[in-house]
Amino acid sequence: MRRITDINSFEELGIKYEIQKAVKEIGYESPTAIQEKTIPILIRGADVIGHSQTGSGKTAAFGIPALMAVNPSHRATQILVLCPTRELAVQSCGEIRKFAKYMHGIRTIPVYGGQPIDRQIRELKSGAHIVIGTPGRIIDHIERHTLRLNHIKMVVLDEADEMLNMGFREDIEKILSFVPEKRQTALFSATMSEEILAITHKYQTEPQLVKTKQKQLTVSSVEQYYYEVPRGKKTEVLCRLIEVNNTKRSMVFCNTKRQVDELVAQLNARGLSAEGLHGDMKQASRNSVMAQFKSGSLEILVATDVAARGIDVDDVECVFNYDIPLDMEYYVHRIGRTGRAGKEGKAHMFVTGGRQYALLKEIQKYTKSTIIHRAVPSLAEISAKKSDDLKIKVLNILKTDNLKAELEVVDKLLIDGYTSSEVAAVLIRIISGGDNENEALSPVYMPDEYSRMPKAGKGMARIKLSIGKTSKIAAKHIVGAIAGASGIPGGEIGKIEIFDYFTIADIPAHMRDEIVSAMRNIKINGKTTNVEPIK
Ligand code: ADP
Ligand code: MG
Repeated sequence: MRRITDINSFEELGIKYEIQKAVKEIGYESPTAIQEKTIPILIRGADVIGHSQTGSGKTAAFGIPALMAVNPSHRATQILVLCPTRELAVQSCGEIRKFAKYMHGIRTIPVYGGQPIDRQIRELKSGAHIVIGTPGRIIDHIERHTLRLNHIKMVVLDEADEMLNMGFREDIEKILSFVPEKRQTALFSATMSEEILAITHKYQTEPQLVKTKQKQLTVSSVEQYYYEVPRGKKTEVLCRLIEVNNTKRSMVFCNTKRQVDELVAQLNARGLSAEGLHGDMKQASRNSVMAQFKSGSLEILVATDVAARGIDVDDVECVFNYDIPLDMEYYVHRIGRTGRAGKEGKAHMFVTGGRQYALLKEIQKYTKSTIIHRAVPSLAEISAKKSDDLKIKVLNILKTDNLKAELEVVDKLLIDGYTSSEVAAVLIRIISGGDNENEALSPVYMPDEYSRMPKAGKGMARIKLSIGKTSKIAAKHIVGAIAGASGIPGGEIGKIEIFDYFTIADIPAHMRDEIVSAMRNIKINGKTTNVEPIK
């Protein structure tokens, strides 16, 4: 079984620099189990049987070695990938093109039924080093002589079990009869059967079996829930759950470094206290994030699995699986961060589509646990919850505190002719931060939005503050906060632009880092505000 501590980096797998660069840009932090085992074998030129579940990262497991095998200056089709559906063909093609971003002149073409064949013929005619397609349409092209397989170096049978289930066996065998015998063959399947073994026996040469199914692990008594979330709404749902449960200490797991950064920016823009933890960060900043999280001054820690593995935090209130983990073992590690020492722990997972639902089922099977479906809390539920909380607070104060001075204020208002209900209602509005409670869940401006704005003036740099119009601030508050925290004269602060949820301020470039660190955890108008430089 793979152990989390044994993970290599992509650099260690012997991959071309151009591909490493692309993978880094996509944001993969470390190879998945199947990638780690399969890539070196395929690069070496041997055949592989990859037995691993959906979502384990098989596309890169064969896509990267395929790109390494291609000779771009030879126009012939050199790699053939067979897969069961048009969706998979299109999806895998897209992924492989991303891996090939920095390799020049490699063409990857998807070929599937349902798309006009003329267009595919044109695409194939202009050269396709890698062809990814469904068996029926591939045969069609072979018969029309629009696809020649006599220079194929590597054949990949992706989701072989699915292809057999769909009745493609004859087609696959027919296609393989057109491919040169001296070639590499990789077969991937989530399940193994007699039929699959028969194929590997007949068409592979001394294949190495790579199996990444891990042994059964059980998880502690953590309550596990999942939510069906529309794509693109995960952050909103996360915020709602944090709000409705009044969560003060949670860990959120993402699969990529880029997702960690994006999510932290989104959460900060909504005024939540969140920081990220991933492998690209310097040790010093990782330590500082961890110290804040442990002390309780940081409420949400967003991390990749790899970055989180070394840290000794395991008493969080709840864990969010923002992305479904790529590895069963990761899931177990993630949710093991909560529910320690007899405390109640909760784990929440976001499911955005049918394929993810299949992963959810597998996780349940693997962990021998039940993940319960829950509806996303509505805005109405959130405000009902808030008013309940408020009621409890009020009752507690009524029971315990002496309210003489406050009652005098109320009496004055009553004398002026207001009713006690009106006075109470206004006070509730004041303490609950005005009438914009739900706005924290409305769309936020993302970093892209301000990258389109004019750049900072000469000698100036820009910082972003997670406070904006919805918190009723004005430029003078911002200037006051910057000058107060850092000691620079207000006159040296440049333009201030206030948006709904954040503010951009121009400051002298040489003071930027000092200002940002002086403003750590600052409160502006009573609201904790995150301040960060904009690159
Ligand atoms: P499979 O073919 O095994 O079902 P995919 O290749 O489709 O899995 O990968 C599933 C998801 O995981 C994709 O969104 C992919 O981009 C992502 N992914 C693959 N490898 C990694 C990795 N090393 N780190 C992070 N994400 C990855
Ligand atoms: Mg796949």
